[in-house]
Amino acid sequence: MDHSLEGKAVLVTGASSGIGEATALALSKAGARVAVGARRTERLAGIASRASGEVLTLELDVTDEQSCRAAVAATVERFGGLDVLVNNAGLMLSGPILGADTTEWTRMVRTNLLGSMYTAHAALPHLLERRGTLVQTSSTSGRTASAGGGVYSATKFGINAFSEALRKEVTAQGVRVVVIEPGFVATELASHITDPSMRAVAQDMMSSIRTLEPEDVANAVLYAVSQPDHVAVNEILLRPTDQT
Ligand code: NDP
Repeated sequence: MDHSLEGKAVLVTGASSGIGEATALALSKAGARVAVGARRTERLAGIASRASGEVLTLELDVTDEQSCRAAVAATVERFGGLDVLVNNAGLMLSGPILGADTTEWTRMVRTNLLGSMYTAHAALPHLLERRGTLVQTSSTSGRTASAGGGVYSATKFGINAFSEALRKEVTAQGVRVVVIEPGFVATELASHITDPSMRAVAQDMMSSIRTLEPEDVANAVLYAVSQPDHVAVNEILLRPTDQT
C-alpha cells in the first residue's frame, strides 16, 4: 500500500460519484484523512465504509458560498488543517446555444465555476498555512470548445484561467495549483444532459470507445499530489487512447 500521503488532510468536492469518489478512495488508500462533500450524503456514507482510513462526510452544495465555507471549516476543525483541496464538483448540460434553456447555463456557471472559486477562496488561507495543493478538475473542454459544449467549455476555460492566475499568486509561498484535464470518463456526468441529440452523442461515445475510468483520473491526481514539495505538476491532460 502506498502511504505517500500519510496523515495529510484532504477535502474532495463532488465526491458522491465518478471521479470525486474514486479520487477520495485513492487518496485515502495512500494514507490521507479525507473529507468528502456533495449533496447526496447517502452516497458519501458508502465511501466512508469502503475507504482505508478516516473519512468525514459533509453535506455540500457548491452553489451556496456559505456551504463551501462551512465544508472547509468543518474539514479544518476535524483534521486540524487542510493540505489538499480537490475542487471537483461539476455538471455538464450540453446543448446548442440557439434556443438553449438558459437556466441550465446558470446552473453550470454557478456549480462549475463560481462553486469552485468559492471553495478555493475559503481553502486558500489554510493551504497557505500548510504549503498545500489545490487540484482543479477542468477538462479537455477547458482547452478546446466543440459545438454543443459552449457554456460547459466556458466554465472549464474559466477554471483554467482562474487556476493560472492563482498559481502565479501563490507559488512563491509554496502552494501548488494543479489543473486536471480529462477527456471522456465513464461516469454519471452525461446522464444529466437534457438535449436529446447531445445525450445520444455522449451515449454513442460511451459505447464505441474505451473510455477513461474514474480511477484513471484518480491516479493522475494521486501522482500530482504525491510529488516532493519542489515539484509543481501544473497541468495533466489525459484522454482515452481511442478519443480523437
Ligand atoms: P459525476 O456526475 O459522477 O460527478 C459529479 C459530482 O459533482 C457528484 O459527486 C455531484 O454530487 C457533484 N455535484 C454536482 N453539483 C453539485 C453541487 N451543487 N454541490 C456539490 N456537489 C455537486 O461526474 P464526473 O465524476 O464525471 O465529474 C466530476 C468532475 O469531472 C466534473 O467537474 C466534470 O466536469 C469533470 N470532468 C468529467 C469528465 C467526464 O467525461 N466524465 C471529463 C472531464 C472533466 P451531488 O449530485 O451528490 O451533489
